[in-house]
Amino acid sequence: MKLVFASSLVATSYAASWGYETQPWQMGYCKPTEYARQSPIDIVTKDVVQAVGPDTLIGAGDFTRQHLQEHHYDVTVNDVDSAGAHSITFSFTQEIGNEKFACPQFHCHFADSEHAIDGKKTFGECHTVCYDKEIYGSFGNATRSINGDELAVFGFFVEEDAHVADNAAVDSWIAAKNGFTSTSDVVEVQIATPNNTDKYIRYLGGLTTPSCNPIVQWTVFAESVKISTAQKLEILKWSSGHMIGNNREVQPMNGRVVTCYGCEDEFENDDEDDEDQDCENKKFIIREDGTIRPGMNLDACVGVSTNQNRAKLMWVNCDNNEMNDDINLEWSFEKHGNHSFGYVIRSMDDGHDHEHPALAWSIRSPSRAANQMVFLKEQAAGLMEKQMFVFEHGMIWLRHKNGEQNYCVSFEGEGKKVKTRKCWKPLAGEFDF
Ligand SMILES: [Zn+2]
Repeated sequence: MKLVFASSLVATSYAASWGYETQPWQMGYCKPTEYARQSPIDIVTKDVVQAVGPDTLIGAGDFTRQHLQEHHYDVTVNDVDSAGAHSITFSFTQEIGNEKFACPQFHCHFADSEHAIDGKKTFGECHTVCYDKEIYGSFGNATRSINGDELAVFGFFVEEDAHVADNAAVDSWIAAKNGFTSTSDVVEVQIATPNNTDKYIRYLGGLTTPSCNPIVQWTVFAESVKISTAQKLEILKWSSGHMIGNNREVQPMNGRVVTCYGCEDEFENDDEDDEDQDCENKKFIIREDGTIRPGMNLDACVGVSTNQNRAKLMWVNCDNNEMNDDINLEWSFEKHGNHSFGYVIRSMDDGHDHEHPALAWSIRSPSRAANQMVFLKEQAAGLMEKQMFVFEHGMIWLRHKNGEQNYCVSFEGEGKKVKTRKCWKPLAGEFDF
């Protein structure tokens, strides 16, 4: 995140030692050796701890919906071409937020994001900066003290998606930047937030710019804001000043814990005994009607509620008359090019008349493929490794980038989630189809 700097601060040398190489600060601003709570971090999903109970510290999901999703905010914009500018920054003419947390500004880091998830960064990351007004009274007071609870910063990943239309909020930033004449001009912009604001991680860190004070309670949302290719290209034109490459490198965890709110399902990792090597509950029959059924129980089907873009797959009774029409049971297998592997996609029409990416079976993390829920997510090239499956030996295998097939889908019983298990190939020829 970024603090507001006095305009007299002029770059005379670069500060490579604490993470940036091209930004307008002198050496020695950050003291990582003194501050263990540094940001950004690499969010390692296998180490993320599920939150117990609601987010009483900030209530970030509600806060975002209530305070960051207005149709417009009156802001002033910094002069991104000036020597001291570090990021495009939108300062609210009146602080937004609630009685507890007030927010003076938001700004963005391109390209890349500051935080990473399992080592991967997105195109950008925007930070809405808020401070504890109840305790500190003003933003200035908050940033001058070092207790650890001064700020609450909300991080939103920004990602290019070739399938989406221009993001309206990002369009408002582009218009503000391209129409810039003076830092005192007031313009209207929106804050770009993802659709799902209930799922996010929380950890204790610091400012990602000098002087890196360890005073931030970070909230980083799991779902990214999607921007069009044209918008990405437009942002990349902001190459004067220091607008591109203004992301600090990830910092050591130093024993800190990352907590997730809204991740109950995806981080679920049961320790059931999985030494069943006969594979009976891992063999399936794919019928012409599109249903996928366990060989040992032909009454069960893989089903999912069709109106969610990221829904869990469940084992349901295929013939249950009381079943809601919304339960989808029909699947098709779409091969990836000429390969034997491909996507398992929902074949049912969702009733919308516009085109959008198909929904495909997906897992959360290939690096820990056992005991993972299979859920539906929009088919995307970048998710290939998480969405690739192979039908072989009567089983549905996950296919990793390295070609390994050690995990497959398992039948857990009707009413249970569809999960992946460690798998062994059956004896040659047996059950092949
Ligand atoms: Zn920032």
